[in-house]
Amino acid sequence: MDNVWVNIFAFGCLFFILSYFLYILYYAIGLYDLNPFFRPIPLKDLEKRLLFKRIEAIKHLDESQKEKLYKRVAWFRAKKTFTFKSESFDKEDTILLISSAGMLLTLGFKNYKFIRSIHRIVIHPTDYYSSFNKRYHLGEYNPGLKALAFAADTLVFGFEDDSDNINLAIHEFAHALYFETKGKNSWGALRFQWGFRKLERLFNDKEFVLTTLDSGYFRNYAKKNPYEFLAVITENFIETPDTFHASHPELYNVLKTMYNFNPVAPKGIK
Ligand SMILES: [Zn+2]
Repeated sequence: MDNVWVNIFAFGCLFFILSYFLYILYYAIGLYDLNPFFRPIPLKDLEKRLLFKRIEAIKHLDESQKEKLYKRVAWFRAKKTFTFKSESFDKEDTILLISSAGMLLTLGFKNYKFIRSIHRIVIHPTDYYSSFNKRYHLGEYNPGLKALAFAADTLVFGFEDDSDNINLAIHEFAHALYFETKGKNSWGALRFQWGFRKLERLFNDKEFVLTTLDSGYFRNYAKKNPYEFLAVITENFIETPDTFHASHPELYNVLKTMYNFNPVAPKGIK
């Protein structure tokens, strides 16, 4: 009789280990995009029109770039986990806008999936208390949790005025891209990290800070540290590329190389 119980116990353990292994496998396949049968639902024409209307930078892309962007947006919104902390706003539109910001920033990259750096996106209705930074926030990127968090009202506002050089989504994706490319050996990642080192050198150059960061064109927050410097000037790069290019061509060219993307040029990508 004892043997029967031992056998049942052994079978139970085996079943548990096997289930756990299958769960890990299923999770990894989803997380690292290993499922060859996965086909994201393409953007509807209505969604494409909405993005075209809301994001000025899309108007400067040619047809093939637009299609590339829409395809990547469909992938991103299907693969990442979006968690809403409130029911009071339009979830589909918010997901569409967030996904578009990330995919716009990586349009010049071969790898656009943020697999190492973003697994989850949390959307709060308004500013929220962050236990990570121990203060109230409008948005943040948490590299440890591989999570982006946004206050929805500020996020939408960022797209409403497309020439004020404030865009929360673009800002946070620029932070995530730094962690995505750090320590990676792909050409795109090396190019981005090379550019960041150059930005760090400029950031520590007093003369540069005086002529560029104190010019009034960039938000003061850019002076906080090299990471914020990158995130803030990326907002200018996407929102007012013509002014950026005309007023600070050297800095503009560093970003153009880092992102392999030229928002000023009629063709978008160099
Ligand atoms: Zn920041």
